[in-house]
Amino acid sequence: MRFMALHWRILVGMVLGIAFGFGMTQVEWGPGIVADWIQPLGTIFVNLLKLIAIPLILASLIKGISDLKDISKFRNIGVRTMLTYIGTTVVAISIGLILVNVLKPGDGISEATVAKLEQTYSNAAGVQSKLAEASKQKDSGPLQFLVDMVPSNAFKAFSDNGNMLQVIVFTILIALSMLLIGEEKARPLKDFFDSLNDVVLKMVDLIMLMAPYAVFALLANVVVSSSDPDLLYALLKYAGVVVLGLLLMIVFYVTLVGLFARKNPFWFLKQMSPAQLLAFSTSSSAATLPVTMERVEEHIGVDKEVSSFVLPVGATINMDGTSLYQGVAAVFIMQVLWPEGLAFSNQLSIIITALLASIGSAAVPGAGMVMLIIVLEAIGFPADLYPVALALIFAVDRPLDMCRTVINVTGDATVSMLVAKSVGKLGKPNVKNWDDNYDEV
Ligand code: ASP
Repeated sequence: MRFMALHWRILVGMVLGIAFGFGMTQVEWGPGIVADWIQPLGTIFVNLLKLIAIPLILASLIKGISDLKDISKFRNIGVRTMLTYIGTTVVAISIGLILVNVLKPGDGISEATVAKLEQTYSNAAGVQSKLAEASKQKDSGPLQFLVDMVPSNAFKAFSDNGNMLQVIVFTILIALSMLLIGEEKARPLKDFFDSLNDVVLKMVDLIMLMAPYAVFALLANVVVSSSDPDLLYALLKYAGVVVLGLLLMIVFYVTLVGLFARKNPFWFLKQMSPAQLLAFSTSSSAATLPVTMERVEEHIGVDKEVSSFVLPVGATINMDGTSLYQGVAAVFIMQVLWPEGLAFSNQLSIIITALLASIGSAAVPGAGMVMLIIVLEAIGFPADLYPVALALIFAVDRPLDMCRTVINVTGDATVSMLVAKSVGKLGKPNVKNWDDNYDEV
C-alpha cells in the first residue's frame, strides 16, 4: 500500500501541474520548455489509454453479451440504456437553458469586449479548424450518422481512432452471432476474449501508475497554452453558468444513485474519482473509457453484462455535460450577438438539436464546440456571425471542456448503475481494497 490513495495522488499531480504551469508562464522560455519536455509525458499517457480502449471494448463487449445466454436480455438492456441516456440528456439541456435564461450571462458583455474577442480569436487557427469541421458535418444528410456507424472494412474500423461506434457495431454483431451458434461452438472464441479482457484490465492498472505524473504534464500544458487572462475574466459569468449547471448535474446523478441504485452517493463519487480526474485532465471521454470501465466494474460492482455495453456506447453518444454546455452557449451567443433569435420556439429546437449534437460529438477534446455550430445553424443563427460566435466563447472553452467531460463520464457511470440495478446486475465490488487496487500490480 502506498502512502496515498490513487485519487489523492492524481489530485496532487493536477495541483502541482497547474502551479508549475503558472510558474512557467512567468518566464519567456517557460512555455517552450513545457511543450518540449513536459507535455510529451501527457501525450504518451493519453495515447496508452486510447491504445487499450479498442481492445477493451472488443473483449469486454464480447464477454458481456456472450454471457447473457439469451438475445432478449440484450434487447432489454439496450432499450433501457437508450431511454435513460435520452432522459438524462434532456434533463441536462433543460437545466442549462433554465439557468442561462434566468441568469442572463450575455447581458454583462460590453461591445468593447466582443470586439476584442472577435479581433483576438476570429481568425485563430482553433476557431477556423472548428468552422471547417462543422461545415463538413453540415454537408452530410440526416441519416449519415447511421451510415457512418456501419463499417465496410473491419480492419479500418479498428485502426481508425475516431470510430468507436463502428467498433461497437461490429463487436455486437460478433457477440450476438456467438450467442446464436451456441455455447459449445463459441467456447474457444469466448475463452480467448475472456482472457484478453483480464489482460487489458491489468494494463489499465499498469498505465494508471503513471497517472499522477501524466496529469501534471497535461495540466501544466493547458495552463501555459491558455489565453489572455483579461478575456477569460470577461467570460467568467458565462463560464460560471455552465459550471453551475454541471454541478447541478452531479446533484442529479447522486440523487438517482441514492434513490434508484440504492447506493451511498459519496461512496459512488469516491469510487469514480480517478475516472473523473482523468476526464478533467484529458478532456476526452474516449481516453478515459478504460478507467471508467475498470472503476464501474471492479469498484462499483456493475456486472460486465451491463457495463460492457452501456459504457462504450455512453462514451460515444451520451454526453450530458456537452449538451448542457451547448444549450447554455447557444443562448449566451444569442444574448450577445442575436437577441432577436431568443424566441421560445428556438429554445425548444435547442433541446432537440443539442440532444442530437451531443450524440454526434466525438469523445475527444473540443468536439462539443464543433457541434455547437450545428445547433446554431438549426435555429437559423446568421451564418456570417459563426466566426464571431466561436470567438466569443473560445477563450474559456478548454476549461469548460475539462469540466463537461467529467459530467459526460459521470453520467455514463450513473446510467450503467441504474440499468444494472433495474435488471438485477448491480452486485458487490470486485476488489479487496475498495480504496485503491492499483497498488497491487
Ligand atoms: N471533450 C468532450 C468529451 O470527450 C466532448 C466535448 O464536449 O467536447 O466527452
